[in-house]
Amino acid sequence: MATRDRDGSSDSSAALPEIPIKKGKSSRENSCVNPARGGGRGRTRAPLPQHSDPHPEPHPDPHPNPEPQPGLPGGVGAGGRPSPPLRPRSARTGGSGTSRVPGLGRRSCPPLGLESLRVLDTQLQASSHKRHGLGAHRGRLNIQSGLYDGDFYDGGWCAGREDTEQWLQVDARRLTRFTGVVTQGLNSIWTYDWVTSYKVQVSNDSHTWLPSRNGTEEAVFPGNKDPETPVLNLLPSPLVGRFLRINPQSWFPNGTVCLRAEVLGCPVPDPNDAHTWHPPAPPESHLDFRHHNYKEMRKLMKRVSEECPDITRVYSIGESSRGLRLYVMEISDNPGQHEVGEPEFRYVAGMHGNEVLGRELLLNLMEFLCREFRRGDPRVVQLVTDTRIHLLPSMNPDGYETAYELGSELAGWAMGRWTYEGIDLNHNFADLNTALWDAEDNDLVPHKFPNHYIPIPEYYTFANATVAPETRAVIAWMQRYPFVLSANLHGGELVVTYPFDMTRTYWKAQELTPTPDDGVFRWLATVYATANLAMASGERRRCHYDDFTRFGNIINGANWHTVAGSMNDFSYLHTNCFEITVELSCDKFPHASELPEEWENNRESLLLFMEQVHRGIKGVVRDSDTELGIPNAIISVDGINHDVRTASDGDYWRLLNPGEYEVTARAEGYEAATQPCRVYFENVPTPCSFRLARARGRHRPGRTRPGPDPALRLQRLRLRRLRAHGRGQ
Ligand SMILES: [Zn+2]
Repeated sequence: MATRDRDGSSDSSAALPEIPIKKGKSSRENSCVNPARGGGRGRTRAPLPQHSDPHPEPHPDPHPNPEPQPGLPGGVGAGGRPSPPLRPRSARTGGSGTSRVPGLGRRSCPPLGLESLRVLDTQLQASSHKRHGLGAHRGRLNIQSGLYDGDFYDGGWCAGREDTEQWLQVDARRLTRFTGVVTQGLNSIWTYDWVTSYKVQVSNDSHTWLPSRNGTEEAVFPGNKDPETPVLNLLPSPLVGRFLRINPQSWFPNGTVCLRAEVLGCPVPDPNDAHTWHPPAPPESHLDFRHHNYKEMRKLMKRVSEECPDITRVYSIGESSRGLRLYVMEISDNPGQHEVGEPEFRYVAGMHGNEVLGRELLLNLMEFLCREFRRGDPRVVQLVTDTRIHLLPSMNPDGYETAYELGSELAGWAMGRWTYEGIDLNHNFADLNTALWDAEDNDLVPHKFPNHYIPIPEYYTFANATVAPETRAVIAWMQRYPFVLSANLHGGELVVTYPFDMTRTYWKAQELTPTPDDGVFRWLATVYATANLAMASGERRRCHYDDFTRFGNIINGANWHTVAGSMNDFSYLHTNCFEITVELSCDKFPHASELPEEWENNRESLLLFMEQVHRGIKGVVRDSDTELGIPNAIISVDGINHDVRTASDGDYWRLLNPGEYEVTARAEGYEAATQPCRVYFENVPTPCSFRLARARGRHRPGRTRPGPDPALRLQRLRLRRLRAHGRGQ
């Protein structure tokens, strides 16, 4: 369960000296399983040097005010918590061998996949274990424990005995050139355990073992200094074998022998068995599969737009607090223009900067759409012609750069999640749920309080409100385009979540909280989850402790863990846009070598999900006399307590599952009109347009011209204020 406060007081991950690390005081995370959790409330957990957790409640305020205060480097961060100490980069790597960041060094091999689960449970063995939930199969880098210690899903491997004869063994199942080991301590809210030094042995047959040597001595590698910060040791010289053992020699004095690990190795041809090793097939699509930092991302976007100038446009929606631009790639047959009747779609990635897969997938997607459009692939041509697509690969570029500097194996679970100011962007949107639910409880919806376009609360527009520049930029973006459908891409789990993200019962950490459009949202989530090869695979195992396969790999966000101020909820309540969250992979920062496979896992689901923007009804609401489109007309579907509005040309889109609906269009100064509209099973929207007649004088005495309704006026005022404050940042 991701429902407790884990926001990282025990995260003492090292940082680059020039980048202060600050944390939000978020108590739990939408999406992405939580970063290193707070500690110190334990029965047995000894105080961690330099840190103490001032929040000992297992279930803290379920609606944390999403206003983490920026902390100073080494000072006190949000919630009175000391910020992690700054440590030189070299503190992350052990003594033997050198590694350059980012990545693992030029000559080093990629990870075998303990973290990504490519290494199966049956490939992990140990000399002993404390209990099943702490077995060898849990000894994987960045694995997260369940809420209760003692179930089957604890946060690492722990030996059953405390001596120097214990080992964790990886069977690579083929001859491998081992080049390094990455270790972490136990992930637990109850105890502190980590290994402070270890030896490494390698074997071909698991009987005869060859130690890693430093000259003539058996090498002893420096281990961890805290539970969460990964430490890399490159072997003094690579060792070839099939099995590798990590053999702890010393451990944190108040703890026991526990660790999580990743092993670096390259497969080598085995002369004894020509059948067990095949060189990996080259990926069929030649996309740019690597991690792109800010500059490289910009370069790639520029290149794609040069290759496909007719269907692309790169624009920026604002800047991060460190001045990096939030670039968007628009892909459409008429870039830069909204075409009447053409729906707008967006993908947003990287709101948590350390969840990097979405960013690369969106960059791959740009390349793919450009190339396939030029090749004349009918599916892509149709998609690009009928849809205006906006791709924001990096919503939190500052956080990404922090994680990127440390690289795939050393960024840990939390580094780079937050913005430079320490804000968790997925808690930073205005909470509109509370106002709506209060109004519903008082029977004010929809006549006295709207069931859609809920205005931003006034406090959120104050100059001193903690609203990140990245959040302001995205809110303004959401306003500028009539988006219909969106997904935001995260990592750290393998599941699709749909709104609401916030529980309706304010003190509950988990509670099924459906929207009035639950059926559509469940469909949308299911589309992504069933087309995703990793989620749909019959062999998929749980990433950490939650088993989402029981629910078809989808879950209501609030039923997983409550989040106030999430982007999904804001999007649904403040705009017409339906948005879901995709947790793309167990590993937040997959190694570059895993990117081709991740693209294959997601390619179909990324396309299919975009095509869902054409499901439901669409049309134009016009003035019956002038034939001009009526902006801001309200479209209500009988039986669904959530309306949408027309865009500036009078066009609208209403996502609906197949069925028969009674649809009503209303606009200020006009007579309302109702008609039946049927949605079929095909992915083609049913046209459902309206001609509205002017209301006769008796309905609106003294009014000759339709004016904007008060809710809209308020909304515009608040937005103007929000933007004005944003500019000063
Ligand atoms: Zn996330």
